[in-house]
Amino acid sequence: MIEKETDIYQLHKKGDAQYLTFRRLDQFPELRHLFTTRWGGRSEGPCENWNLGYGTGHDPDTPENREYNVAVLAACMGTTPDRTVWTQQTHTTNIRTVTEEDAGRGAVRPREYTDVDGLVTCCRNIALVSHHADCNAVYFYDPVGHVIGLAHSGWRGTLDGISRCMVQKMEEEFGTCPGDLICGIGPSLCQDCFEVDRDVADQFFRADERNRQYAKSRTILQDGEERIKYYIDLWQILRKDLTDSGVRDENILTMGLCTKENLDMFFSHRGQKGWRGLMAASMMLIED
Ligand SMILES: [Zn+2]
Repeated sequence: MIEKETDIYQLHKKGDAQYLTFRRLDQFPELRHLFTTRWGGRSEGPCENWNLGYGTGHDPDTPENREYNVAVLAACMGTTPDRTVWTQQTHTTNIRTVTEEDAGRGAVRPREYTDVDGLVTCCRNIALVSHHADCNAVYFYDPVGHVIGLAHSGWRGTLDGISRCMVQKMEEEFGTCPGDLICGIGPSLCQDCFEVDRDVADQFFRADERNRQYAKSRTILQDGEERIKYYIDLWQILRKDLTDSGVRDENILTMGLCTKENLDMFFSHRGQKGWRGLMAASMMLIED
């Protein structure tokens, strides 16, 4: 069981829906945000029961269930599905600047864009949404410039630096000062649960020598053979990327919740061997 609240996050219940927020971000009246758990919808089986995926091949669910589940998400954000805008995630570092014209894309009408793993906007009353089942959700809030960003940062997105791309985009397009940003890292795989082979570890080391300090290795017995496995701390690598980009260390909030070790609360791609639903991260600026 996860804690109901810590200094960093709080677990909320609204009807049947359970979701998490960052305490620090809750203090801003113009901002709404959340990370869903697996409880709050009406899906069944491996998607039981608040699946927010949409037929990516891993979420064997019905369109009717998804429609209901999206409506619950929107209600928790204090809005309606036609005011949500969804990513089209393919582990890229592509970030879309969301405008009023995008309202409803991915929820009540087609997205008409592909390969979008990050969303950024200064529009009010539009909820950005990304989805997750082990991959990191990274939240970006500029309380001075009034800009929000949301990134899907799995290991590939983390390796390729989608968080650095987001900070850069916020600077260039919206004039954000990185020192003003408050960033949050949602539930995902902890270091011990992000087990990889040498080839993936090497990619992280090649990308940045400093990543070696966030990795450890262990010899395990697999299929009767001794193999070396690597364990990489993506939460620390994200923190490093963000501080490299000028975000202040004290403004980086990590929930520290492992999806694979909390299957009673979260979907987990690794924990459910690929047969799972998807949770969602969402952020919205409202009128002050
Ligand atoms: Zn874990």
